[in-house]
Amino acid sequence: MFAQVAIEKIPNKLFTYRVTEGMGVCVGQKVTVPWKRIYHSGYIVALTEESPFKPKMQPPEAIQSNLFGEAEEPVKGIKALTEIVDPLPYFSATTIKLLQWLANYYDVGFTLALRSALPAPVREHGSHAQERFVVAPIVPRPKGLPQLSKRLQELYDDIVRVDGGTLTQLCAEFKTTPASLRKLATQGYVTCERTIVQRNPLAGRKILPSRPLPLTEEQAIALEGILQAKQPVLLFGVTGSGKTEVYMQAIANVLAEGKSTIMLVPEISLTPQTVNRFASRFGKTVAVLHSALSDGERHDEWHRIRRGEAQVVVGPRSAVFAPVKDLGLLIVDEEHDGGYKQDEAPRYSARDVAVVRAGLEGAICVLGSATPSLESWRNATELKKYTLLRMTHRVGQSSLPGVTLCDMNHERTQSGALPIFSERLIEAIKERLLRGEQTILFLNRRGYAPTVRCVACKETLTCERCSMKLTYHAKDDTLRCHSCGAWQRPPTQCPICGHSQFDRTGFGTQRVEQTLHAILPQARIIRMDADSTSRRHSHDELLNAFRAKEADILLGTQMIAKGLDFPNVTLVGILAADRSLDIAYDFRAAERTFQLIAQVSGRAGRGDLPGEVFVQTFQPDHPAIQAACRCAFENFANDELATRKEEGLPPYTRLAMLTFSAKDEKLVERVATEGALRLAKAPGLNVLPAMPAPMERKEDYWRWQVCLRAPTTKQITHACNIVFPADNRYTDELKIHLDIDAVFLG
Ligand code: ADP
Ligand code: ZN
Repeated sequence: MFAQVAIEKIPNKLFTYRVTEGMGVCVGQKVTVPWKRIYHSGYIVALTEESPFKPKMQPPEAIQSNLFGEAEEPVKGIKALTEIVDPLPYFSATTIKLLQWLANYYDVGFTLALRSALPAPVREHGSHAQERFVVAPIVPRPKGLPQLSKRLQELYDDIVRVDGGTLTQLCAEFKTTPASLRKLATQGYVTCERTIVQRNPLAGRKILPSRPLPLTEEQAIALEGILQAKQPVLLFGVTGSGKTEVYMQAIANVLAEGKSTIMLVPEISLTPQTVNRFASRFGKTVAVLHSALSDGERHDEWHRIRRGEAQVVVGPRSAVFAPVKDLGLLIVDEEHDGGYKQDEAPRYSARDVAVVRAGLEGAICVLGSATPSLESWRNATELKKYTLLRMTHRVGQSSLPGVTLCDMNHERTQSGALPIFSERLIEAIKERLLRGEQTILFLNRRGYAPTVRCVACKETLTCERCSMKLTYHAKDDTLRCHSCGAWQRPPTQCPICGHSQFDRTGFGTQRVEQTLHAILPQARIIRMDADSTSRRHSHDELLNAFRAKEADILLGTQMIAKGLDFPNVTLVGILAADRSLDIAYDFRAAERTFQLIAQVSGRAGRGDLPGEVFVQTFQPDHPAIQAACRCAFENFANDELATRKEEGLPPYTRLAMLTFSAKDEKLVERVATEGALRLAKAPGLNVLPAMPAPMERKEDYWRWQVCLRAPTTKQITHACNIVFPADNRYTDELKIHLDIDAVFLG
């Protein structure tokens, strides 16, 4: 028999090895194989009876080398698989099919696709890293055992006294060696066994069990629709309509059939609150996979899932590959979220992978959102590829909050300078302070002031390595690049004209916090952004403090836009609602703005008290802002789809972005320009001329882009592979990457 093996370190090829009889191989196992005189770990991707190679196609090196001293005669010169690392597979045959689809669709090497399906700590440690030898004394001391030396007798007494421990612990504590402990074991005084020590991310949390709530009529209809679904379901439910409760009851149904669930959530809404909700309902069968866990925790959770000990997996994007057994349900919550798209190769969309995986495994797929992506909306309405289920009311007495638009153009003329707050918003915050209710303020920009400009020459300070304005951070008096993270002290002289005075314009969360302190000194404020949450648990701590009403105002970036459920919040203020509208190059700008306003507004009035939302904007007449304020998703979506159709934009066409980056400015420009011309000859392909990327420089690299559109993705990848063969896309001088269904166009 022969095994096709993907070697972890080699992204673009598969290798064939001979399988020694009786090894007990199966597809998906982790194995060790020889390659170029070194042992590598890899995974069995396929098994065949016949060698897939004709003899002359074998690598000569495989024939000549007998370095690994195999016992049997090599069959036709193909080397043998060295060992099976773990008999229990890492990938099911269906996951391998899924990864083949992914590699194909996103145009990446299969092994790269496979690697992305394993959390880094699992790739790096293998499956035995968490195993410990546990030594336990046998008490009372059994009779008729051989006499112990004085030293071993003492050691045995010590072990009895501390009631055993791990091999490493005991060696350190009693200044002894593993050999001595093993000797005690062979002589029958202690047992020494391999055990798996679990590191559990939920350990130490108080989790109270919860019971299913009686469903509202809308929820019950949705649940029924999900359980009966014959195709993917789009659950379009307004914020606070109780989607999570529906998910949980669907999961309970699937569990009762002995099947597993994967629930994907955006990384930033994977708060302890979300996790606790699931843990309360499903207990130990919940596994959490996310990057805030320690490596050990992630490693253990993944293996627990693989062994079938956890049947409900909650995690971000990469959890779509979780090795659950018998998948019955795959949920993608907030399916419109940009975070489901990976921004490095393979640039997959976890939402789309979820739909494909569920299809391959015959599982129910639920995409849920209050503001579905236009891709999914079209699939559910126009194409009827998804079943559309609606939940239009909030649970209980609460209704969607009323939205007030604040035209900031008006505010500016009144006071002369550009204010951060409209007067009405400040009044509304004051009312909340008096009533002991809470406020959430949203601003999609961190730091103090986003632009620092020379007063004399009006030049804005930008990052030396990126085309990005530097943001002033008052807290540590630095200028920071939000693209590459580089920082510097504010210069004393303008690098262009030498003048020594600077203007700081615009505002970020730090400046808002300072201004708010000045206007409302009595208000207690929690600021939540990338700068205030860099420690591992600070994110949770800040949210818990707000929940415990230790603050009146929660001020934050997109980190606070989703999923938060604070019943005492009755006011939400969106400080610069049109910020994302200004992104002219991004055809999804209106869609994003709508989503943002609707999601952030959805944080208000979730309890018994009614909510109110203030949206500050310079473009009060923009259709996306108008529609979001009326919570008119369907109108907005249908109008926007009509525009997209007219302009030949997704979802009516497939769009991919080819990005070229190099340190040599001329080289990128030339390769991109010539590439665009050659691509334009491919049939069915619509190619825009090569252009500098919106962020033309990033970390010292010059970047150019070519935007490609075609009726199918296949046409795009096919043409790109002819013009830029996959093997040549990554050289020291020039890097080319293809982003299928691009979401971040910067
Ligand atoms: P969504 O996910 O749609 O924004 P949630 O699932 O967070 O909404 O529900 C909003 C609130 O309503 C939560 O506090 C939840 O506990 C509560 N809730 C949901 N369903 C019910 C129900 N059937 N009966 C009572 N309360 C419910
Ligand atoms: Zn930079």
